[in-house]
Amino acid sequence: MAQSGVMTVSNRLERRARISDLLRSADVEDLLSLGRADVLSLHLDTDPTKPENQRPEPAYRIWARKSVLELATGLGSSERKRLDELAERVDARLREDRPGGRGLVLYAADGLWREYVLPVGVENRVRYGFADLWPLLWVREAYTPYGVLLVHRDHARLWVTHLGEAELVEDEEFHLDPSQWRFASGKPPSFAKGMGMPASRGAQRDTFASRVEDHVRRFWSRVASAAGKAVEELGVGRLIVGGPPEAASAVCDLLPESARRKLVGTVSVPPQEEWPAVRERVLEVAREDQRRRHHEVRDRLRNGEGPGGAVLGPEATLDALLRRQVLVLAADRDVDGRAWLCTGCEFATLRPDERCLTCGAGLVEASWTQVLPALAWRNDAQVVLLEPGLLREHGGVGALLRYR
Ligand SMILES: [Zn+2]
Repeated sequence: MAQSGVMTVSNRLERRARISDLLRSADVEDLLSLGRADVLSLHLDTDPTKPENQRPEPAYRIWARKSVLELATGLGSSERKRLDELAERVDARLREDRPGGRGLVLYAADGLWREYVLPVGVENRVRYGFADLWPLLWVREAYTPYGVLLVHRDHARLWVTHLGEAELVEDEEFHLDPSQWRFASGKPPSFAKGMGMPASRGAQRDTFASRVEDHVRRFWSRVASAAGKAVEELGVGRLIVGGPPEAASAVCDLLPESARRKLVGTVSVPPQEEWPAVRERVLEVAREDQRRRHHEVRDRLRNGEGPGGAVLGPEATLDALLRRQVLVLAADRDVDGRAWLCTGCEFATLRPDERCLTCGAGLVEASWTQVLPALAWRNDAQVVLLEPGLLREHGGVGALLRYR
């Protein structure tokens, strides 16, 4: 599992710090190797709107230098030397230019240099040893994209929003292109208004009304199928539908099955009301959905609802991970604890034994947050980070099992 050293130069993402891009392209699997315990993981709050980051010597640069040097003081001389070198490389990088986003994540080691620009803030944080992917996993969890379909009688829009912990981070707008019956990004087509009602021309009132209704229902049906296609293509896993109740519920019923499964709620929006006015209400539905999902995971753990049951607590969870039984690993975002790992055979224990019981090699001390993602990856398990404290009474961690 050792790193092959192929990544010698910086592998920078585009400065355009979009979450969807990050989540698609953040290929971090090679960082999950337990074969190397010499990685410096640095998370920096680079938010350019903060005054301390606007000084000639921004606060994050001072913090980075100081914290990496502090980290080195507790280590042996060869590791101290290595960290000194890494500290210099980091400092040189931070002098080059100001990172584009609000947060910067760096992974550095011999033959390894990765950086991720985040459009959301992260807390300053430094770790050495096994790579620390915890904050990235949290970003992935907390900023899950939601598709929001707003539909009226004669027009529809789709937004993809990334919900932050308390705020909307970014959204991207898609307009219905009626010539193709597809949602497209960019400007709305100028003929969107031309979706108008059939002309009345003296038609008998009831007939006219029913023709209008037919027309509107046809429109909603096409909106529903276009929205289904769009969320599929955009990789959006959750959908909220808003509009006047009649429109919203009709479109929900007309959604293709795959899109209906993604539906997490509807929002009642008066006719003509547009996105800025309804955003807060939509976000509340999304937040409620996140809370519900987290509580569902906790309940499934407590009720033993994995195919092979479930375990709770650090000891039992580590045991299941080492046996490769884990289907879903769940942990509080603020879980805390230490583990000791063998870099040779990947044995792990919660007791600071001096030697590996399996192969006799020395063990490396690490925090839970460094160990859990790597072990979960070996289990091919899904990792779910929960809101702080949800599993605290169970030691902050648990797992749904594939088999007993
Ligand atoms: Zn071992």
